[in-house]
Amino acid sequence: MIYYPNGKGRQKHFHSGKPLKQRPTVAEFQRFFSNIDDKSCPGCWLWTGLKDKKGYGVFCFRRRNMGAHRFSKQAFDGPFKLGHQANHVAKSKGGCENRACVHPDHLEPLTFKKHLKETAKQTKAKKKKIMDDIPF
Ligand SMILES: [Zn+2]
Repeated sequence: MIYYPNGKGRQKHFHSGKPLKQRPTVAEFQRFFSNIDDKSCPGCWLWTGLKDKKGYGVFCFRRRNMGAHRFSKQAFDGPFKLGHQANHVAKSKGGCENRACVHPDHLEPLTFKKHLKETAKQTKAKKKKIMDDIPF
């Protein structure tokens, strides 16, 4: 969680909130791309800019900080419906589940409820994999 110097605490629009209204400009896309590392992990766009404590990228768009993943998905694939959040697609469905990744193909818009369910599913699968990988 990031605390902002303006004293307002956590910004509302980080994971949810209003959809993107305007299409980003070329300069804004360039600024976005300057924060991406597309070489370390093939297929992924890893955020190299500011991150929050949980590892999500932070992108300042039109004077408001928002999740870089949330910005990315909407900038490339169009604005979310109200109440939708950007979920990192499960590995089993071709995603990467990497919070630092902002590749639009590795993100899907989900309602808050479905997002919670999906996250729980992914966590369960991760735990199972860890257990399966223990060699004894
Ligand atoms: Zn990815």
